[in-house]
Amino acid sequence: MCGVFGVYNSKTPAEDTFYGLYSIQHRGQEAAGVVVAGYDEMKNKTVFRQHKGMGLVAEVFKNPGIFNKLPGHAAIGHNRYSTTGASKSSSNIQPFSHTYRSGNLAIAHNGNLTNSRQLRKELTEQGVIFQASSDTEIIPHLAARSREKEPVHQIYQALRQVQGAFSLVILANDQLIAARDPHGVRPLALGKTINPETGEPVFYIASETCAFDILSVEYVRDIEPGEILMIDKQAVKTGKPVSLFLPPSQRKARCIFEYVYFARPDSIVFNHPVDKIRRNLGKNLARESKVESTKEEQQIVISVPDSSNTAALGFVRESNKICRPARFEHGLIRNHYVGRTFIQPGKEDREIKVRSKYNIIRGVLHDRQIVVIDDSIVRGTTAKMLIKLIREAEPKKIHLHISSAPITNPCFYGMDFPTKGQLLTYMFSDAKDNEEEIEKIRDYIGVDSLKYLSLQGMLNSAPRFDNEIQSYCTACFTGDYPISIKDACCKKEEYDCEE
Ligand code: SF4
Repeated sequence: MCGVFGVYNSKTPAEDTFYGLYSIQHRGQEAAGVVVAGYDEMKNKTVFRQHKGMGLVAEVFKNPGIFNKLPGHAAIGHNRYSTTGASKSSSNIQPFSHTYRSGNLAIAHNGNLTNSRQLRKELTEQGVIFQASSDTEIIPHLAARSREKEPVHQIYQALRQVQGAFSLVILANDQLIAARDPHGVRPLALGKTINPETGEPVFYIASETCAFDILSVEYVRDIEPGEILMIDKQAVKTGKPVSLFLPPSQRKARCIFEYVYFARPDSIVFNHPVDKIRRNLGKNLARESKVESTKEEQQIVISVPDSSNTAALGFVRESNKICRPARFEHGLIRNHYVGRTFIQPGKEDREIKVRSKYNIIRGVLHDRQIVVIDDSIVRGTTAKMLIKLIREAEPKKIHLHISSAPITNPCFYGMDFPTKGQLLTYMFSDAKDNEEEIEKIRDYIGVDSLKYLSLQGMLNSAPRFDNEIQSYCTACFTGDYPISIKDACCKKEEYDCEE
């Protein structure tokens, strides 16, 4: 989890990046940073200026005077949520900026490298000093060691050595470079607008297209898996950035969890609108549901706001279509001034935040048959506490429906799931079969029935891509990791690897 943003040929790159990061705040709330490339007339060259800090984007940039200190024509930015590297360390705030023999290089990364431990060890043995514990810093160090002259070729060589998930924005002197790993795990999109004064294109890169909407930027296309896109003065002249491609991966591995939970429903992710896919998840969940209802006793469907709202709408629509009368109601109210519970590191904070984040509407829930739609269960803490809260309204029955399959394995590609041992499913892994496992989870959470969407139901909800045998990563649901995790540096001890 993290959000990245980049802009080229703007008169206000720092402000643009601020608004872009603001719209993808849901991707990371621990820290934010911007690096701007601007021409320094005194020095007669392009220089990088930066501003970074811990906290939300609005907090980090609360002093408007900051923007006067960040003049330039291009910028990159990053919202951080730690997956590798100590979460509270300010040295891990991105973008990372370096000066080397070819000039300046700054980088921001969404994803997680799976061979970073080995590469870091090798680089350290060769005398490289790392400033941060984040895996991202390996990429500029590898680029700096390349014999190539052009930064884009240096980056190409560096990216050939790393494995795992990466969606990157890089400032290399006067160029903006965007890159996505050959499996295409994390999203990355290209946008464009025309400067009305000069008639020149202004290019944008973002993790999600909602960052374009806030700036009235047109979404052009996704950065393709394995693509390294270079935007420079020539691209401004021709209107067309040029691309290099990393060796392709036969199997693609777009993170299906982006559709389930992570991306905003108003974004286009992996070329498709998240809203539509999330409704499909709800629709397929309704088809698999066993809860019966009549006109006289409708199902009252409530969502866990906000991430499950869209799936709940899809669920209600399909339930009515297949003659299971259902009505959507607001039964839970969310306090928007508390961050996502899932996104706060540390268990201690999480429990108190659930109660401060949600409240119930008793009149909606009392004496009714309630279907609660939630997108996923990770540790189970939130679900258990929410159900306890809903029980206070004395509903007749609570049916918990989850618009994804059970999460059984950790993610090594940039989503901050806990270790295998901390996942709720692990607690009941001694069950003799799936049915018994679900029954034990139902009992633990305290609901009258529990239904997870099947893996096939999830896959049927997501778009198909032509000529691809496999398009999605589903490893946290299946344990089938599309990129080797043999050397993955986090949570390894929890996983059955040889070392
Ligand atoms: S393991 Fe799960 S969360 Fe991680 S990339 Fe794969 S589908 Fe996404």
